[in-house]
Amino acid sequence: MPKQDLILLALPPSPILDLMQRALQAAGYGVAVAHDRAGLDKSVQEAIPALMIIGEMFADQDGFIISGEMLERFPTLPIIYYAEKDTTGNSKLVLKHGLSGYLYPPLQMSDIVDEVQRSLAHARRLGDWLRREVRRTTSSLAEKAKISEAERVKLEAIISNIQDGVIVMDEHQKVLLLNQSIRDIFNLGEGVFTGRPLGDVIANADLRALLSRSGEGPMKYHEINFDDGRVFNAQYTPIPRIGAAVTMQDISYLKELDRLKSDFIHTVSHDLRSPLTAILGYTELVERTGPLNQTQHDFLHRLQGSVQHITTLINDLLDLGRLEAGFDTRREVIQLEGVLKYTLDMFDTQIKTKLIKLTTDISPNVQPLRANPIRIRQMLDNLVGNAIKYTPNEGEICIRIAMQDNQIVLHVEDNGPGIKSEEHNRVFEKFYRATNAPDGVKGSGLGLAIVKSIVDSHQGRVWVESTLGKGSTFVVLLPAQE
Ligand code: ADP
Repeated sequence: MPKQDLILLALPPSPILDLMQRALQAAGYGVAVAHDRAGLDKSVQEAIPALMIIGEMFADQDGFIISGEMLERFPTLPIIYYAEKDTTGNSKLVLKHGLSGYLYPPLQMSDIVDEVQRSLAHARRLGDWLRREVRRTTSSLAEKAKISEAERVKLEAIISNIQDGVIVMDEHQKVLLLNQSIRDIFNLGEGVFTGRPLGDVIANADLRALLSRSGEGPMKYHEINFDDGRVFNAQYTPIPRIGAAVTMQDISYLKELDRLKSDFIHTVSHDLRSPLTAILGYTELVERTGPLNQTQHDFLHRLQGSVQHITTLINDLLDLGRLEAGFDTRREVIQLEGVLKYTLDMFDTQIKTKLIKLTTDISPNVQPLRANPIRIRQMLDNLVGNAIKYTPNEGEICIRIAMQDNQIVLHVEDNGPGIKSEEHNRVFEKFYRATNAPDGVKGSGLGLAIVKSIVDSHQGRVWVESTLGKGSTFVVLLPAQE
């Protein structure tokens, strides 16, 4: 018998209280009697009884109510309910409140001890089971924690050894992790940056621009430039329930190759222009040197057409070269709508010949911009020219100009053949012609590369939104004059 077990009696003074006290003491239990509610609470809290017996009424309170409160705080404490009279109502309430025993007169000492022993044995079994379960759950949690710690270490080792720069941040753009490559790229040293806002840790304008665009979703191409000439391509990838990751690859060598290629093209184009001008000049002179028959006329005409085509191509290439070299510094305050009028005038005949329905929608609050009017005209000529060129007869084109915050937004929308989504970025590359281009539509693949260079040199952005078979919308954002 566990002699040290303490039984707490919460009954008003009465012969039955005395009987219980005697019976339990005789059976070797420690017995404490609570005289009021405060005493009861203190005993339960401090003496930690192994069991409590409570009467129907104690300190003017209902025994069931007190039991309910006790079990709320000490769910494993066994409680035996004592009633002056047995009723079915009482038995039900004992079960309902989850009490562990029920005593009522007539009572002998052995009845009291038996009920206490039975309740204690049951409580012990419950306690043993609970302890076993807690041990099992704890060890399985510890096992899991061990595995996830191992996984974390493995993941960290992979990320830190990756050649690409990797930054993982939480939803508030605070650093969770950055690898050695990022430390090397931004010269961060050995500092601890976890928990700090990424914008504070790395003060790079291009990276800040990437973060400020993060609301637009995943981004694949974003250049990060350094004063020493290094160029990185950065991707932004949102990670659900974590935040986002920024990865960076060094593309300096690709940029250098691109520059060499551009230099080469520029030199060749330049050297070709003079002989071409001479050829064109001489074909015009031939016509003046004497009468030509119809076939000679025809051949001469084709020759001139071809030379003209090559000259346009070469001019485009030279233009691109100049734009990429950053020579375009002329800036004037202009209205986009004003330049658009010249473009539309130039294409008027083509629009009419192809029976194209062209509409414009110019918002009245469009602000002026600081730009090179010749380049802006070139940009509009290319975008509107493409829309006319690729849209079939009787097609529709809509040109919209509006303001969005302090940016001017230009939309050139057509219902032509559209462009496959995987080619949306590629159409802005030099010489790239998309697979959609209808047979017989001629082009060099340079127009949109020129548009992109012009927009870039005006600190703007250009992209295409298009569904194959449904048409394309080219969107240009240009900063309005401050
Ligand atoms: P190109 O001289 O071939 O027109 P661009 O650089 O202007 O060269 O355009 C690149 C490619 O993008 C085109 O070959 C064409 O496939 C596609 N493209 C451009 N504009 C449109 C448009 N409005 N509708 C459909 N495809 C277009």
